[in-house]
This record gives sequence, structure tokens and C-alpha cells, in this order.
Amino acid sequence: MNLQRIKKELINVTKLLIQTPSFSGQEKDVADILVCKMKQLQYDEVIIDDIGNVIGIIKGKNHKASILFTTHMDHVPPGERAEWLFDPFQGVIEGDYIYGCGAADAKGALATQLFIKLILKNVHEHGDIFVAFTVGEEVGGFGSQYLIKNADLPPPRFAIIGEPSNNELRNGHRGRAIVKILLKGKRTHSSRCLPEENVFFICSRLVAKLFQCDWPRASLGATSVIPVSCTHELCPLNITPSWLALKCDCRIIPEQSLSDVVRILETLIPNRVLVEIENFTFKSYTGLEFQAPMHPAFWISPTHPVLQTVQSALEQNFKRDFPIRTWQFTTDAGIFAQKGIITIGFAPGDEKCVHSANERISISEMVDALAYYFNIIQTLSAIK
Ligand SMILES: [Zn+2]
Repeated sequence: MNLQRIKKELINVTKLLIQTPSFSGQEKDVADILVCKMKQLQYDEVIIDDIGNVIGIIKGKNHKASILFTTHMDHVPPGERAEWLFDPFQGVIEGDYIYGCGAADAKGALATQLFIKLILKNVHEHGDIFVAFTVGEEVGGFGSQYLIKNADLPPPRFAIIGEPSNNELRNGHRGRAIVKILLKGKRTHSSRCLPEENVFFICSRLVAKLFQCDWPRASLGATSVIPVSCTHELCPLNITPSWLALKCDCRIIPEQSLSDVVRILETLIPNRVLVEIENFTFKSYTGLEFQAPMHPAFWISPTHPVLQTVQSALEQNFKRDFPIRTWQFTTDAGIFAQKGIITIGFAPGDEKCVHSANERISISEMVDALAYYFNIIQTLSAIK
């Protein structure tokens, strides 16, 4: 298949995926499309597991290392429609970009990884290639956690994570957990000014301290604790509520544990604060319910010999720089790396546009990514 034909197919599939909403827990329609495409592309095996992940297998030679390519089928809601230049579920093309909800995170990567089957014809020898499209990434990496725990297949030696990296290499990110900070105040007549006991005054002091908190800093930057939602006891307006719950998104460096973070938060306002770690249960479109621990951090040293080999092969072949950087956001990479799989991030798409209006994916980056994936497969297949 020539490059122009692949480009046309990539555009068509990306548009179709954008036109098919797939919020977390509602990935079925996109999963059905991807299964159908994998069958058309003659993957050797196509499986939907119990949680709804789609796994395509391309059989290779036993003596070569197996490689997993993976990204996720779910995406976050589009937010305010008025902020979008185009309908977020149309997949409108302007210039080199396809616009839409989830375009970069991660429908462009889904389409690109799907077509790996086409480029493999030109790789002389490779091991088994698994292409896994997972559910529930945006709410805690549930599909990948389930896959790694339950797959009957032996774990692959290498994993390539398809999250937007502008076709550069990614080697780390912080882990993620949600904590609920429960603030205890006093229910009293709202004509009384009690700054020490009014939950809103207490909350304002806590938020100021969160902002000023000197979190430890290491190779992946610093831990952050960002308030994302607030609820409180509902009272008539002439009564001050007795409690307020602030939910915070915690991004945690590998050098720090979640319990360290909880301990620090509990000391910010003594005797007024109770911190709970939010546990999530994911309900899949298949009906399966699954609980998983926090989304782990990901780290592979930039001097790791495999990462170095991949980088120099790409740079030699394509005569451009392929910088190794870390992601600001969290992905499923840590789930695979924790199992001893040598994991690298690489995909088309710009990290800066994800989870916001006018998210888009570059068509030329998707086409280029296939050539880069081809090179990465060749390089990893040659590693003893
Ligand atoms: Zn993503």
C-alpha cells in the first residue's frame, strides 16, 4: 500500500473515530469499529477481553522480542461547545489538522497504531506484535491494569505508549491519585463571624497553603496537589455548613508515596482536616466492574541502552532530532513499566492541546509516525 493510500485511510479512520464518541465506560462503538478494521487488515487474531479492551495480534518469529503498541479508546467530554471552532464530533479538517474531541488524546494514535499491520510487511523479521486499545484510561488506567493482570499472553518485552508526544520520545511522568480533604467547621448562625470555625474561611487558608506548599522536587518535577471540586453540607443560607469536602488531583513523583502526601496534607490545618484517598470502581461497557490502585508514575532513564538505541536509530535514519522528554500528564505507561516491560512513549499529537477545546491532530504527524514506528520495530527486533 502506498503512502498516499495510507494517508487517506488514516484520515478516514481518524474522522470516523472522532465522529463516534467514546467517553470512559462507553467505548463499545469505537471498540466495534476497531475490531472490524483489525479483521479487514488481517490481523492474525483479534480479541475483546472481559473489560472491553481490543487486542490485535500479529504473529512473528519466536526468537524475536515481542512488542506491545497501546493507547486508549476513551476520551474526556468536550466541555463548552461555544469554545470550539467546529463541532467536536465532526472531525473537521483544516489545513494539516483534524479537529475534534479526543483527536490527539488518543484517536489519532489509535488510527496510527491500527495501521502498524500494513507497514510490517516490510520489516524482515519481528517477534509477536500486540496492538492493544484499552478502556477507562482517563479515569485511572483501568483497561491497562486489567490487561496486565488478566491477559493469558506472556508479557511483551517492549511497550510503546501511544499518547501525544509530537513524535518525540517520552520517558516518564508523575503518578496520579485523587484525594478528598474533608474540612470540619462549625454549624452556626451565619450572622456570626467565626473565622476559626467557618468552613469557607478554613478552606481559604487551606487553599493558600496548598498553593505555597513546598513539595519535593526530583527528575520528574515536583508533586502537585490541585483542587478540582468542592462540596459542602447543604444548609439554609442563614446557617454556616459544618463540613466542606475539597477534592484534589494529586500528581506524585516516584520518590514520594501517596501516604507521604496524605500525611503532609493532614498537617496543613491541624485538627480540622481529614484526608481520604478516593477509590474508584470502573464499570465497563461490557458490564464488568473493576477496581484498581492509583495510576502509577512512569520512569525509564534517558540513558537506558534500549532508549538510546531507539533514539540513535531514529536520528540516523530520519536526519532530525528525537528528544527524550517527560510528559506533564499521566498515562498507562507506568502500569506496563511496573511489570518489567521496557516502556517508551511515542505518538503523534501535541500534549498542549489535549483536554481542551479545539483539540486537533496533525495528519502529517500521523503519516510520519508510521514510518517512525516501522523504524522502532526494526530496531527493537534487532536487540538480542
Ligand atoms: Zn491519553
